[in-house]
Amino acid sequence: MSKAVLIDTSKCIGCRACQVACKSWNDLPGKSTTFSDTWENPKFLDSHNYTRVLFREISQPGGDLKWQFIKRQCMHCLTPACASACPVGALIRLPEGPVVYNDDKCIGCRYCMMACPFQIPKFEWESAVPLIRKCTFCADRQAMGQEPACTSSCPTDALLFGERDKLLKEAHRRIGAHPGKYYPEVYGERTGGGASMLYLTTASFDNIGINHLGFRTDLGDYPHGLYGREWMSKVPWVALTVGSLAVGLHYLNKRRAQVQSQEHKEE
Ligand code: SF4
Ligand code: SF4
Ligand code: SF4
Repeated sequence: MSKAVLIDTSKCIGCRACQVACKSWNDLPGKSTTFSDTWENPKFLDSHNYTRVLFREISQPGGDLKWQFIKRQCMHCLTPACASACPVGALIRLPEGPVVYNDDKCIGCRYCMMACPFQIPKFEWESAVPLIRKCTFCADRQAMGQEPACTSSCPTDALLFGERDKLLKEAHRRIGAHPGKYYPEVYGERTGGGASMLYLTTASFDNIGINHLGFRTDLGDYPHGLYGREWMSKVPWVALTVGSLAVGLHYLNKRRAQVQSQEHKEE
């Protein structure tokens, strides 16, 4: 019953409706941006931008350049390194697929940020009580029987939401039905142990330079969540002591913010 999204980059026209829908559903504030030498905007994922569309120009055999747009967000890994590195269980993978975050449990240690091979969890640096933010795979919408905001807004069906098994079959059907159109591998099928975000691309992952876009091609099939567990078992006692101090400070800040907010309500 695990859900997934098939992202067919050959169908993406770079309209960024998915970015807008994500912001709208998650009530994320807009931020001023500037024009730059690339089509991408915003330039980075951050605590107010859970998804963004990347842009690449790919050289064709005749010397032409072809545009390729690639939507990026949390991969919702089947064995998430972020969750296995989190010492307090603030991140968990739901059986339906979303890797979700509980801000009541989070102690702000940021181990999840270090463990994630895709550099996805972002810290609210601007907040007095910073929390971790990332794509939720619209777990709240899925719980109500709705599809994610991004997939529901895509005008070209570049984003297809459904059961992971069925989407993988569909991905391989498309590869077989259109010889030469797609690179014959599905990114996310086994990458790092597999993910809920599955990508079909028209060029090899190396040709797209996918490594430089925040996707990794060196992970192999080994569930990278297991690296997280191994990594945590090697965390020295010094880090744990510093971590405990950070926990204390985090709770102190959290409590202070709660009291201030209560005082404002009572004024
Ligand atoms: S390890 Fe990174 S990409 Fe995978 S679920 Fe966690 S935050 Fe998302
Ligand atoms: S910051 Fe620390 S406690 Fe919070 S989710 Fe990340 S690993 Fe877990
Ligand atoms: S809404 Fe669909 S077509 Fe538009 S940028 Fe997002 S994935 Fe691409």
